[in-house]
Amino acid sequence: EWQHNHGLKSVLAALDDVYGGPRYVGGAVRDTLLGLPVSDIDIATALLPDDVINRLEAAGIKAIPTGVEHGTVTAALAGKNYEITTLRRDVATDGRRATVAFSTDWQEDAARRDFTINALYVDPQSGEVFDYFDGLSDLEARRLRFIGDANQRIAEDFLRILRYFRFLARYGGGQIDAGAIEACANGAHGLTALSRERIAQELSRILGLKNPVASVDLMIQNGIFTPFLPELSKSAADHLKQLVQREAQFKQPVSLPARFLALLTRDIVATDKVAARLKLSNKMREGFGHRLRAGVPTPFNVRAIAYGADIDTARDAAMLYAVDEDVPECLAQLEQWDIPTLSIKGGELISMGLPPGPLVAKTLQAIDAAWIEQDFPDTARQREIAVQMVNAALAVDNQSN
Ligand code: ATP
Ligand code: MG
Repeated sequence: EWQHNHGLKSVLAALDDVYGGPRYVGGAVRDTLLGLPVSDIDIATALLPDDVINRLEAAGIKAIPTGVEHGTVTAALAGKNYEITTLRRDVATDGRRATVAFSTDWQEDAARRDFTINALYVDPQSGEVFDYFDGLSDLEARRLRFIGDANQRIAEDFLRILRYFRFLARYGGGQIDAGAIEACANGAHGLTALSRERIAQELSRILGLKNPVASVDLMIQNGIFTPFLPELSKSAADHLKQLVQREAQFKQPVSLPARFLALLTRDIVATDKVAARLKLSNKMREGFGHRLRAGVPTPFNVRAIAYGADIDTARDAAMLYAVDEDVPECLAQLEQWDIPTLSIKGGELISMGLPPGPLVAKTLQAIDAAWIEQDFPDTARQREIAVQMVNAALAVDNQSN
């Protein structure tokens, strides 16, 4: 399907070489073999990055040097991006980034990739699959296997620990490789050497998967979170499991902040600390705050929570924190409900006899609170509440004068 794309064909034509390339590699190959939809397309080539850029430009294709020192150029065509990476071998590494040497040897390029299922190449013309490390049988058996020695590969780049658990959640299901898990556990201390953005990005990818429960459970059991998330709740595994179960049961996915919150204690200060340490986006951080402040949703307060924040926040809070028997009714309360607005304005209160000044805002607040309390009644009832509140305010005002 994705291969019958004109833009892609012209990128491949521009990169035709004498070394048997270009070839597809990575996620596009893996997911196509599994019959899954393909998100992004990675292309490997023996051509050097400068040559890649020149050839793309000569063909009228925009070339963006996204990581030339690592051999990566992005081709942008018809609104799509293609990552083109020159064959390479890693010559030195500090556990974060490798120094690379370019190569024209496909097997050498395969050997520096992380997992066997990620080192499959396809020739776009013939459709031939190149499998240097038995990735095909691993893929079939749903087995995630490091290329080479797991301990060594992790020491080269500690991010591979988190990638391991991400790909395990996505493609695992076969036998668990105890040796690989142990290597991840032993290397976990090295995660502190990585930039927090990279950790946060990878963690978000894991938590954003449809069902990360088993993989996250393994991460918890093996102390993977300890170096960067000491705030992990003791019930994190159970809470995430419950949340994901509810999502499936009610066909109601939650936001990424909600998935994160399932791992943490319900403490705004601690959660803020996590957001700051992992340099999470402001949107994420605010998402945490809203959902935590929502408290425990019930069918009786869930609309009020939505009114004070928004529908998504209230729904997430219900999925996260409501007791089992309340969840369906909370969701029903929010379904096909638009957050209403109070129609009473300050001017009306003044025309009812309230003196202009701070009392107006105070009374509006009281009306708003009563209106929420009474489950958002219509305009006529809003006016009745307003009259009551204005009279009460005037009575208090007279007394104090
Ligand atoms: P996705 O579908 O999530 O994009 P992907 O396998 O394409 O999965 P990318 O992060 O896009 O993952 O990386 C593309 C390929 O580059 C991988 O399949 C793998 O071969 C290689 N790769 C990426 N990151 C690493 C790493 N840290 N160590 C070794 N190889 C890596
Ligand atoms: Mg990819």
